[in-house]
Amino acid sequence: IVSKLKEGLSKTKKQISDSFNLISFGRKIDESLFEDIEMVLLKADVGLKATEEIIQFLREESKKRKITEGEDLKELLKEKLYEILKKCEGKLELGDQKPAVILFLGINGSGKTTTIGKLASQFVQEGKSVVLAAADTFRAAAIDQLEVWAERSGARIVKHTQGADPSAVVYDAVNSAKSRGDDIVLIDTAGRLHTKEHLMKELQKIKRTIKKLMPDQPVETILVLDGTIGQNSINQAKTFKESTDVTGIVITKLDGTAKGGAIIPICQELCIPVKFIGVGEDIEDLQPFDAKNFVDALFD
Ligand code: GDP
Repeated sequence: IVSKLKEGLSKTKKQISDSFNLISFGRKIDESLFEDIEMVLLKADVGLKATEEIIQFLREESKKRKITEGEDLKELLKEKLYEILKKCEGKLELGDQKPAVILFLGINGSGKTTTIGKLASQFVQEGKSVVLAAADTFRAAAIDQLEVWAERSGARIVKHTQGADPSAVVYDAVNSAKSRGDDIVLIDTAGRLHTKEHLMKELQKIKRTIKKLMPDQPVETILVLDGTIGQNSINQAKTFKESTDVTGIVITKLDGTAKGGAIIPICQELCIPVKFIGVGEDIEDLQPFDAKNFVDALFD
C-alpha cells in the first residue's frame, strides 16, 4: 500500500521534495532561500495560507534550533507538513446498524463511479455484502457504468430506468439492504450542478428517504474531487457543501498531477476531513488518507 502510494504521488514528490533538495543543496539559510521554498510550495498547490504558516515555522524553528544549512530545513518541513495534514485526516463513520449508508457526490468526471467501484471491491474483499444504488438516473451511461462495477466487485446493484426519481432508487436500495441484512449501501448520485436549488432539493429528498428508513444511522456523505485540478476544486466543492452536509472528501487522480499539495487548502478551506485518496486505476489505489504515509511517500 505504501509503495503504491509512493508511486502514485511521484509527480507531487518531484514538485515538493525533489525541488526542495535542488534549491537547498549547499545553501546557507537566508531570506532568499525561504522565498524559493515558498515558490516550491505554491507550485505544488499547497495554498497561500498553509505556505505562509510553513515558512513562518521554518524561520522560527531554524533560529530556535540553531539550524544553518538549507538541507537541514527538510526535517522541519516534513514535521510541519505532517502537523497540518494530520488535521485533514478522517475515518469513515458508518454507524452501528445495518446497512451503513454512504452517499457520493461530485461532478461528472471527478472519479465518483470509480471510487464507488473500488470501495465496493474493498468491502466485498473484507467479506461484507454491498449494495450499489444507481441514483444517478440522469445519464443512462452512469447506470451502465455502475453495473459494470457491481459485476466486477461482487456487489448487488439496485437500479431503475433512466429518468426515474433518484429517491425511489435510494428507497429500494436501502429498504432491500435492511431486510436482507446487507452491510453497506453505496449511493451514486447525479453529478450535474444544474442549479444549486435543484441539487439541494434532490439531495435533501434522498437524505430524507434514508432517514425515514434508518432514523438513527449517520449518512456518510462523501464529496469526490478531481485532484488534477488542484485548488480549483474548492469553489465547485462549496456549491455541494451549501446544498447538503458533506462529511468527508475523496481526492482522486493524485497520480496524474504535481498538485497533490492541494489536499491542504481543500481540507482547510472546506473544513471537511479527507477520508480517501485515489492514486491510480487499480482497486487498491483508493487508499484511506493517512498523513504519515502521505508525508513519507513525498520525502522518502
Ligand atoms: P464520474 O463521472 O465522476 O463517475 O467519473 P469516473 O469514475 O467515470 O472517472 C473518470 C475517469 O477518471 C475514469 O477514466 C477513471 O478511470 C479515472 N479515475 C478515477 N479515479 C482515478 C485515480 O485515482 N487515478 C487515475 N489515474 N484515474 C482515475
